[in-house]
Amino acid sequence: MMAGAPWDKEVDVLVIGSGAGGLLAALVASHNHADVLVVEKSNLWGGTSATSGGGIWIPCSDQAKAAGVDDDPEQAFKYIRELSATNVPDSSIKAFVAAAPEMLRWVTANTTIHFDAFPYPDYHAELPGGRKDGFRTHMPTEPIDGRLLGKDMQSLRPTSLAVSLFGKINWQFTETYMLLFRPRLWWLGLLRMLWRYYSDIGQRFRSDKDRFLTLGNALLGGLRLALNKAGVPLWLDAPMIELVVSNGKVTGAIITRKGKAMRIGARKGVVLAAGGFEHSAKLREEHIPLQPVTSRSGGQVNNTGDSIIAATAIGAATRNMHSTWAAPVFSVPGEDRGRLVTIERALPGCIMVNQAGIRYLNEAASYHIVGQQMAASNKPEARTDPSWVVFDHDFRHKYPMGPVIPLMPDWLQAGAVRSILHKASTIEELAAQIGIDGTALAATVKRFNEYAATGDDPDFHRGDAAYDRMYGDPRQTPNPCLAPIVKAPFYAFPIYAGDIGTNGGLVTDDFARVLDAKGKVIDGLYAVGNNAASVMGESYPGAGSTLGPSMTFGYVAARHMTGANQTGHKDG
Ligand code: FAD
Repeated sequence: MMAGAPWDKEVDVLVIGSGAGGLLAALVASHNHADVLVVEKSNLWGGTSATSGGGIWIPCSDQAKAAGVDDDPEQAFKYIRELSATNVPDSSIKAFVAAAPEMLRWVTANTTIHFDAFPYPDYHAELPGGRKDGFRTHMPTEPIDGRLLGKDMQSLRPTSLAVSLFGKINWQFTETYMLLFRPRLWWLGLLRMLWRYYSDIGQRFRSDKDRFLTLGNALLGGLRLALNKAGVPLWLDAPMIELVVSNGKVTGAIITRKGKAMRIGARKGVVLAAGGFEHSAKLREEHIPLQPVTSRSGGQVNNTGDSIIAATAIGAATRNMHSTWAAPVFSVPGEDRGRLVTIERALPGCIMVNQAGIRYLNEAASYHIVGQQMAASNKPEARTDPSWVVFDHDFRHKYPMGPVIPLMPDWLQAGAVRSILHKASTIEELAAQIGIDGTALAATVKRFNEYAATGDDPDFHRGDAAYDRMYGDPRQTPNPCLAPIVKAPFYAFPIYAGDIGTNGGLVTDDFARVLDAKGKVIDGLYAVGNNAASVMGESYPGAGSTLGPSMTFGYVAARHMTGANQTGHKDG
């Protein structure tokens, strides 16, 4: 810790990590006249945030109001309280609900990022305080022109393979539906996307990276543009390795840069925004021993819990370290991350079965619930990790299944994908290929087909909840999530119990200040995003529940450390 030695550089605010929460904290602090530095471990900036859908869950926003929706902070509190873990204090939830719309108003006023509220149902909309009509999920709806980022464009972390076309072409949220359901003249939309991508000729000679920034890339691109305008530096390849403490206060950190250790002083404090520990095999083994495989996480590979380790070394407390933003993932050989499976499970004509060939959950529930159930049900008598997604010829040609692209023949799919895609002319043969009991699988399919005919799934109620239907096919009646599996050939694809990051971490107070084991504030130390234990506990209230709080507490932390009031303060 070497307190007392001279600093190699001194700033007001030092931000560790360049995800959405970190960059917003840096921007707000800079607007409040602080001298700010962001340090990033990787040679790419943006973190998992840049690879994400860019959705943020913000109750009671101006955007929802403008859409005519009358949301209520009391209802939002009630809803989160119902879902969040009991060890998350009421005051933290209230702090989030109060500051979230204010944060979004600030982002709208001070950056070029444009968010709209979407009629995207809450994941548990039927609970008290939940909203079936949505309008708490906000998506960045206007693309950002990556050319404006200059050389920083090339070091922006690209969108996830799970949320881009052919693994490289960025799409807008509305284009997802065009590609998914292929309405009349859909191919014109596809041509427009291809033209957009391939006509950027200069970039095509340089890189696969799309400069038409959407979703998480638009969010991070917009934040970086604003930071560049404000003159805030972001150092790449500069991991934080240790915090510096003087008289009980965090006064800076030690980072490495160009192979040398550097002491960076932070007069107003350090914001830890270095993500979770999803890619640390050691920490997973310790805290999530039943799901030790790092490549089943959709989080990016540099999130190895460095800041959690550094903070606990100086006495910081942790909470819910066993918890993740759970999710089912596809694991394509050769890829370093799991591919989040959001939509496909809800589409009609597929089921998920365990290794005994039996359905065991509502496939259309939120990824968090499905991920948690897959992990919890994984017992020796009927393994659920991996489970199998089973579908037929009609589904195969109508819809995508992760990396398996519809309309494209099997032989044209990527080799790695073909290596895990099983195909057979009968259900029994398919079962034999994947090592499960043929009679059991055939009985499961028969039972499911009966449910599909009536549109009612009495076993798991697939398609009953507002969220299930969000990703069903509206053309399918009577239930948009149910269609029979009847037409050969039949397919099976393995699906794993994974996550999109961990969500247990450092204990923080309502201002994002890190607390010690006695609940005392560690002066000068703040934590946001997956670096901190989530205000949502072990739950996932709606789309954007990780980035929404990450950005909100980034905003709150920056205002607190630069002396701005929580509300009513006019940033200067
Ligand atoms: P990150 O964004 O990962 O940022 C942490 C940064 O810190 C990284 O750049 C990392 O390299 C850096 N770092 C790590 N260690 C150090 C160190 N020692 N020193 C310096 N830097 C360090 N969530 C939503 O809310 N809405 C969505 O729409 C959504 N979509 C998703 C889609 C996909 C495909 C995936 C995989 C996830 C999605 N998520 C979504 C989850 C969300 O992206 C993450 O939970 C969130 O980005 C975490 O933010 P963070 O700031 O904590 O971490």
